[in-house]
Amino acid sequence: MKVGIIGTGYVGLPTGVGLAELGNQVTCIDREISKIDALKAGKITLYEDGLEDLFHKNVKEGRLHFTTSMKEGVEDADLVIIAVGTPPHPVTKEADMKYIHAAATELAEYLTGYTVIATKSTVPVGTGDDVEALIQKKNPFADFDVVSLPEFLREGFAVHDFFHPDRIVVGANTEKAKNVIKELYKPFEGKTNMLFVKRRSSETIKYASNAFLAIKIHYINEMANFCEKTGADIYEVSKGMGLDSRIGPKFLNPGPGYGGSCFPKDTMAMSYMARQNNVDMTLINAAIVGNSNRKKQMANRILDAVKEIEKPKIAVLGLAFKDGTDDCRESPAMEIVGELLEQGADITAYDPKAMGTACMLVGNKIQYADNMYQVLQDADVLAILTEWNEFKTLDLNKANELMKHKKIIDCRNLIDGKQANDLGFEYQGIGR
Ligand code: NAD
Repeated sequence: MKVGIIGTGYVGLPTGVGLAELGNQVTCIDREISKIDALKAGKITLYEDGLEDLFHKNVKEGRLHFTTSMKEGVEDADLVIIAVGTPPHPVTKEADMKYIHAAATELAEYLTGYTVIATKSTVPVGTGDDVEALIQKKNPFADFDVVSLPEFLREGFAVHDFFHPDRIVVGANTEKAKNVIKELYKPFEGKTNMLFVKRRSSETIKYASNAFLAIKIHYINEMANFCEKTGADIYEVSKGMGLDSRIGPKFLNPGPGYGGSCFPKDTMAMSYMARQNNVDMTLINAAIVGNSNRKKQMANRILDAVKEIEKPKIAVLGLAFKDGTDDCRESPAMEIVGELLEQGADITAYDPKAMGTACMLVGNKIQYADNMYQVLQDADVLAILTEWNEFKTLDLNKANELMKHKKIIDCRNLIDGKQANDLGFEYQGIGR
């Protein structure tokens, strides 16, 4: 199948590479010239485990192409996937649709023959109707259908999730469009759940899923607070909860709050849509407020640990919003760093993959270390903010020698608290 993908970001690029690997002819389109130049020159523009090798393989085998030209990517395509950003509107926090609307309008004039336009971006309910209307207005003779094809990949596991999806949800209003998507996902037939639903249901499934996961994270963080006050251990509690098949063991890890480019914006967009439709969504609203407070609480924990020290030096391990990615968008780590900077903190940080993206956000307001031990030199407190496996191997004896004061605030519970205490560290984890 000939596929054009508009938007070559964290969703568009892994999707493009994955579809090429399945044997499709894929053209990835992005308006950012530097991104396309880099990709054409064989340089991958984001970090995802396993993506680089597949990217090179498919470019070499002639199935994966990159362009800034909408015409080149869209004409002759059987399927055009929209994977542009839907960031929160700066004022209302609803999903800002300007990139979707621009993409729909721009692609319209280049459609030839019957084409399915699939929206992979996370979009408010009813967007399929808007995209359809925009294309029809620009190109009244176009032969096309618009389907909703929400993306459920987890950053850090994008390649794995592409090839092993839990489910594929398709919101198609015509049989013809449904058959095109069935053909696309034929290699997954019998291997995953394929759910064909109304377009509006499909758009809603994505928001309902993300909001539910955000609430689950917020819930376990509140339970962690409760455990800290009562002497219970959040890991024993979440294990006991997770063994109930109605609850399940996933997303019961306490931490510094949810972040990333999806949960914060999608909960706010869902809340906005609910208000627009006069529906009360108290759970989502509570999670939004509680999660925002959580990051301030974590920053206060770190500041509290060094409140007696004049001009404390804070060592930060982890800047990405989660392990396995270089993405710092809405990263709890970055928000905590921001809070600390507001209080005039002196911060040195290290992240295995996200130093470049973090630097684009905070520049030289913090110092960057080359490894996790350099960060500890003369530090008064260590704050662990992202759950990279590498940090679990931290040699506490070495840390003991390097740090000025022996204090650890472990927002990801990566360190053995007992060992840290035995070595004389003041150690604070989460929920125990
Ligand atoms: P991103 O910002 O990484 O990438 C979007 C890309 O689209 C950018 O490279 C941008 O230059 C390009 N673009 C914007 N308008 C364009 C246009 N008119 N023509 C060509 N290119 C254009 O965004 P992302 O993280 O890939 O997210 C994309 C969508 O997928 C969002 O709606 C998001 O909510 C959703 N989503 C993201 C994830 C995730 O983990 N990142 C997971 C599921 C769904």
